[in-house]
Amino acid sequence: MNRLLILIGKIIVKILHLFKRNAGNLPGIILWHLTRGKCCKMFKVSCPIIAVTGTNGKTSVTNCIAQLFQQSGKKIIINKEGNNLDTGICSLLLRYCDSSGMVNADYLILETDESHVPVVYSQLKLETLVVLDFFRDQLDRNGEMETLIQKINNFCKTFEGNLILNGDDPNTARLGKANPGNKNVKYFHAEPYAFATKTAYEASEGHFCPFCGESLVYDYYQYSHIGKFHCPKCDFGKYEPYITASGIDLEKPVFTADGRTYSPKLNSIYNVYNMTAVAAAAKLYRIKPEITDKIISKYTVKNGRMENFMLGDRKTTLNLAKNPVGANMTLRVMNEMNGEKELLFVLNDNVADGLDVSWIWDINFSIFERVTRVVTSGTRAYDIAVRIKCSGYDPEKIAVKPDLDEAVAELASTPGRKFVIANYTAVQPTRSALKRYISKHGGKQNEND
Ligand SMILES: [Zn+2]
Repeated sequence: MNRLLILIGKIIVKILHLFKRNAGNLPGIILWHLTRGKCCKMFKVSCPIIAVTGTNGKTSVTNCIAQLFQQSGKKIIINKEGNNLDTGICSLLLRYCDSSGMVNADYLILETDESHVPVVYSQLKLETLVVLDFFRDQLDRNGEMETLIQKINNFCKTFEGNLILNGDDPNTARLGKANPGNKNVKYFHAEPYAFATKTAYEASEGHFCPFCGESLVYDYYQYSHIGKFHCPKCDFGKYEPYITASGIDLEKPVFTADGRTYSPKLNSIYNVYNMTAVAAAAKLYRIKPEITDKIISKYTVKNGRMENFMLGDRKTTLNLAKNPVGANMTLRVMNEMNGEKELLFVLNDNVADGLDVSWIWDINFSIFERVTRVVTSGTRAYDIAVRIKCSGYDPEKIAVKPDLDEAVAELASTPGRKFVIANYTAVQPTRSALKRYISKHGGKQNEND
């Protein structure tokens, strides 16, 4: 039966390739139906599996961990295109398995959707799970965050492998305290950076101890609800970090972890957390320090994730923001930079974005500093303009341009530093509009520094 299913799957992949169609998800969906939801169970995986999950940062961390092994000369399989549901992972394994369903590699490194962790790894044996953070994201799909955390927690109850957790996120750190039976829990942690605060100033979750209900006390917040916390009543938040990022200086940018100093290319605290998770995996798997150094120092992102463009001589940073945390992060990077700057915010409400755009009310625009002008665009250009106006920003300085090319031209019409925030379905059209502007008026794309 297994062989027949594998054969069917491989034929579907072949047919899709013949028609030059992407076989990233469809073969898995068909096999999901044929196996009644157990589409990953057909495979025999001969090597350790490392999974990365969390709301933000999955793709970056998965790619970096994969590179750690690749550069160490290991054969790895990774779901690079981010097909991170059970059906996507099934489609990936179909491509690499033999006719008996055997998958041969040194390591499988899999970005895994939060809600699919229990689904996939009840079928495949997981060695290491990296959990980055939990934020409100696509609530219509994931349901309440608490439900999601409970799902993963239930999986952790029987999971005895390595659990690498963000110790500064109460939502992920609780998975460690809730499962004392697992002796392989490892926390990563970061010391405060220059813009850490004593109080939370972005809409954040995780105010209360999930074990005793007491209000959590924070020594400092790095961003959103990420920071050094503890419960004054029980021992939640007290742990010995496996790895700590210290000496964080985002001006340079530089940080130290486990006795080594890294100079990442991306200057956000959010990236420091991601790279500390990567360093934790490197430590666990005893990757040569010079390889870890190379990966962390060279890592940069394209595809609209802190991607830099030059509109003529005007430096422009584009960032994807699918949720308030992503948007707040870009605003933070903007604020922490000296000098005046302008922002273009592109907001769409297509199906893939979630039709509900109420999440923009959780973006903290009141922290704007030296933002001299805002341009808004996208199918909800007016909604985002109203949102920014309601934060107390001078409406005279807001230009609404639903047409993207007009919006980019408007942004580029003045000198100075520019930032662009675009949500999910807006990010690729925005990149295209920026490139069109550059091809007409000069400049440069993908100029990451
Ligand atoms: Zn407590």
